[in-house]
Amino acid sequence: MTSSDTPQAGPNFRLDGQVCLVTGSSRGIGAAAARALAAQGASVALACLDDPRMIAHTEQLAADLRAVGSRVVVLPCDVTDAGMVRKMVQRSEDELGPLNTLIANAATIAPCEWRDLDEAEWDRVMSVNARGTFSSVRAALDLMATRGRGSIITVSSVTVRRGYGGSVAYIASKGAVVALTRALARVAGASGVRVNSVMPGAILTETVVEESPDSVMYDLSDEQCLRRQGRARDLAGVFVYLASSASDFVTGQVIAVDGGLIHY
Ligand code: NAD
Repeated sequence: MTSSDTPQAGPNFRLDGQVCLVTGSSRGIGAAAARALAAQGASVALACLDDPRMIAHTEQLAADLRAVGSRVVVLPCDVTDAGMVRKMVQRSEDELGPLNTLIANAATIAPCEWRDLDEAEWDRVMSVNARGTFSSVRAALDLMATRGRGSIITVSSVTVRRGYGGSVAYIASKGAVVALTRALARVAGASGVRVNSVMPGAILTETVVEESPDSVMYDLSDEQCLRRQGRARDLAGVFVYLASSASDFVTGQVIAVDGGLIHY
């Protein structure tokens, strides 16, 4: 028995001295994750789309976090550009130190009716959600593997299990994220790097409200075990858990946070 096996040594969710990078951190789920990681003591690289509106949101988040003593850096980056992604990860390391956790959260969630879906829209969605996740993960994994530790967290969607006709390309792209997570967990495990996916359910974020102003349409609480709408902050605990040593023996998993929309 080692000291960490003793009953007194409980799980440690603190992230002091750790560095976490979150893509798509301007607002919504990514911002909630960044806030939660910083609250546990992590330094956080806030990556965001290189668009003035998203940069402004992210600078505000950075100011809030700095005001409470967190070390943060804002890194504008379009995840469809693999070269930019590599530079983003490198800049995170240059500014904050060796990366412990990547949350590959950036995605386009623009709904598109099946009859309007063409190859150009398919490619656009895939290039952000599937290829952008791949490029982000590859850039981080290369560095983490050389150090024999790290946690990579992808963000999928419960629509992969449930299906929904209004977002076919989106769901297919998130299916690819789930498959990528499982495949890379096997590859990365030998290097001591864990790869898991957080699978949100119906979470009421700013983007959801903007994309479907009648957000009542997005309220699935009647179909959930827990009869309330999910919020970005409901995801925060799972990100902290997967970033922390409390989940040291967890890899290759897809963890749904959906109020019991799908419960198996
Ligand atoms: P969001 O729009 O706030 O988050 C996505 C982020 O990705 C945004 O900040 C956006 O600017 C950024 N982004 C888009 N294209 C990018 C690009 N090319 N390069 C870099 N960044 C880019 O929405 P959210 O609801 O907070 O979603 C966060 C994550 O959760 C996404 O992966 C989404 O697919 C997933 N998700 C959300 C829900 C939900 O109900 N909100 C459900 C299932 C899954």
